[in-house]
Amino acid sequence: MEKRELLYEGKAKKLFTTDDSNLLISEFKDDLTAFNGAKKSSETGKGALNNKISTELFKLLESQGVPTHFVAMLDDNHMLHKRVDVILIEVIVRNIATGSLSKNLGIPDGKVLPFTLVEFDYKNDELGDPKLNDQHCLILELVESTQELDQLRAMARQINDILRPFFKEKGLNLVDFKLEFGKDADGNIILADEISPDNCRFWDIETGEKMDKDRFRQGMGGLKVAYEEVLHRILGEHS
Ligand code: 5GP
Repeated sequence: MEKRELLYEGKAKKLFTTDDSNLLISEFKDDLTAFNGAKKSSETGKGALNNKISTELFKLLESQGVPTHFVAMLDDNHMLHKRVDVILIEVIVRNIATGSLSKNLGIPDGKVLPFTLVEFDYKNDELGDPKLNDQHCLILELVESTQELDQLRAMARQINDILRPFFKEKGLNLVDFKLEFGKDADGNIILADEISPDNCRFWDIETGEKMDKDRFRQGMGGLKVAYEEVLHRILGEHS
């Protein structure tokens, strides 16, 4: 399967059509952005790492019954996946308080939450991805019904219930992450986008070291080494 026309270029990926109208190819870029594009950089090899990490995690989720858009990893930087109508809601799942949750509500950084929190952000760069409640989602017609919002929450919890123990076994705390969903050609809601250290926070269980994009957001350096370590652990090559 080969790339045809460029459909869309996002901050981390380019999206191409293919000869099959139901299939698209994502090219994972090396670009790094943070704070809604205000901070920019690039790290050679980052795109390939995210493609490989996402591939492994999509395969794991599929094997546990979660429908995803994943079809195949084509090469280092390219993933073949189903075409979906993207739901413009970023589904945020949090196990441990940090980031915007700690900043906005004053919950101490690192506090383990009494239960897993699922939140919705509006996927809208112009508005800076503001928080949404269910009524906002319906008024903005981001979904068709409250049942669909319940389905997004249920799928997000199911994904967390698979990934959290998986990463714990690898010595990583899955602190929080962002998911995106879409509707496939049959109208079914499936997981889309990517699952990588660009949109998840991983903290080493023993040392507390950050193994994700916060290394870039906070100017810590060592981003690629951390992403490589996440991939090695996923593949069972714990160093
Ligand atoms: P926070 O709301 O604390 O900034 O982010 C919560 C989690 O969702 C983090 O794991 C973060 O990486 C992810 N996340 C939230 N919004 C975005 C976004 O617009 N892009 C990416 N790549 N990740 C996001």
